[in-house]
Parts: sequence; C-alpha cells; structure tokens
Amino acid sequence: MEAADHASPRFSKFRVGAAARIGGSTDVISGWNVEDQSLAAVLHAEQAVLIAAGHLRQGPVKVLRMAIWGHGDVPPCGRCRQMIVDSNPAARVLFPYGGGILVAAAEELLPLRFSLPPTPG
Ligand SMILES: [Zn+2]
Repeated sequence: MEAADHASPRFSKFRVGAAARIGGSTDVISGWNVEDQSLAAVLHAEQAVLIAAGHLRQGPVKVLRMAIWGHGDVPPCGRCRQMIVDSNPAARVLFPYGGGILVAAAEELLPLRFSLPPTPG
C-alpha cells in the first residue's frame, strides 16, 4: 500500500504498488508504476520490483512472495505474470480481486506460459 503512494501514473491516475520477498534475503523490495510523457514507456509495479531486486542482488532473483496493491481489482497483466513465473513458478502472488484478496501460485496465474525450448547439447 505504501509503494502505491509513490506511483507516478500521470495519465491513467491508477496507482499500483507491489512488494516482494526474494530468495536469499530477508528484505522486502517494493516498486510502483510509472508512466512517462511519451506514452511509450510504462513501468508496472511488479516489473519495478523485479528490476530493483535484480539490481540489489546483482543478478537473477527468485521471488518467494509478491503482494500487489491498488484501488479495486489489480490482477497482474500477462507480461508481469510471465516475469513473475519466470522468476519462480511457485511464487505466491497476492492481489485485490472480487472484493477480497486472491492468493495464487504464479504458475496458476499463467498456466499456458511461454517457455523457451531446451537448447540442444
Ligand atoms: Zn503488468
């Protein structure tokens, strides 16, 4: 909820914040959505968390849990679902939905996700 206060949704006015626990750390890393004047670059709160966590850890991160907050239903978009499930299919994801808080594994939110084929050799 605090992360959503930092959001910069110049155009949509839809504030979203996210916070996550990352494997190998006890820190809670937060992020928020940002929209720029070009309208070409929009950073979602979930993406901001993953970028910040990767920067802090200096490498790939494994999301253990991620909470997403905004006013009303805030299910992660398809791109964010792919990024979270790539980090950890078993990551627990929480967000407001249908008047309650939905809790699901990342892989449940994106059952037919894209995966690169195994590399030969
Ligand atoms: Zn998104």
